[in-house]
Amino acid sequence: MKKAALILHGGCTTFDHGDTYELEHQAKQKLSMDRIIEKGWKHVMAGDSAVTVAEKVVNMLENDTVFNAGIGAVLNERKEVELDASIMDGTTLSCGAVSGIRDYKNTVSIARKVMTHTKCVYLSGAGAQEFAHNMRFKKTPRKDFVTEYQLYSWRMMKKSILEREKRMKGTVGVVVLDLNGNISAATSTGGLTYKMKGRIGDSPLIGSGTYADSRFGGVSLTGYGEQVIKTALAKYTIDLIRFKGYSAQKAVEESIKELSRLENGKAGIICIDNNGQIGVYANETYINHAYMSTSMKKPIVGCLPK
Ligand code: ASP
Repeated sequence: MKKAALILHGGCTTFDHGDTYELEHQAKQKLSMDRIIEKGWKHVMAGDSAVTVAEKVVNMLENDTVFNAGIGAVLNERKEVELDASIMDGTTLSCGAVSGIRDYKNTVSIARKVMTHTKCVYLSGAGAQEFAHNMRFKKTPRKDFVTEYQLYSWRMMKKSILEREKRMKGTVGVVVLDLNGNISAATSTGGLTYKMKGRIGDSPLIGSGTYADSRFGGVSLTGYGEQVIKTALAKYTIDLIRFKGYSAQKAVEESIKELSRLENGKAGIICIDNNGQIGVYANETYINHAYMSTSMKKPIVGCLPK
């Protein structure tokens, strides 16, 4: 039988176990991931291409209010939503990215259109919004992006600037190996709670938050974006598979070790290598994740990789 695999993450979060509000939110994320991994897997088994499955699964996560992407994304210091996303086709190395999206919930689909309908890789701000309009994406009223949970997180952050990882609220990402051996990765986020207006993290940066090369593997990250950018961690992980022959799991563990050398080097990472093996890891934070492959009987949905 041909090999295929799918993994998704719902972001890194650190919460206090006494915080029932956060615990409830985590439980909701788990329920959503249970549902989304099943649906996504059907697309893989139906023979959809890796890049199409990556987009569809990220769309499901973006449309679900419990994740920090699309509807329900975090608010910046001005209480606005600014969305970033990227997608990569590991067979052609084609990729697309956008940032500063404010009116469209399926950010990763705009990134895919950048990949397929322009000569560029990355569009930002007003240009990205104009492109989405020209590509006939449907607008969502700005007030509809804002959830009670994100308002609560914003208020908490305003009151006291908490540790970095408490600003991480569930970025989403997906890696897929399809039945034809193609690998794709995609990431979508609102970024960090209370971020500066205009701030861009790792998620839309190819090589930092997202990377795929079907000869070796695919990666999506979540975490403290500034540090992930400095280490170009997604590409670093693929290079460990490429040049050192690491499995997906060994590569993600080594990458997180590398990141940990930096102050605030906190992240969660998912990976599929070209053998269909899964890797998932995080340091001192939770990474909500779910995965399924042709060598498994049923999906695994978890929050603690360690
Ligand atoms: N990596 C994202 C960023 O820095 C945030 C996250 O994953 O929670 O924008």
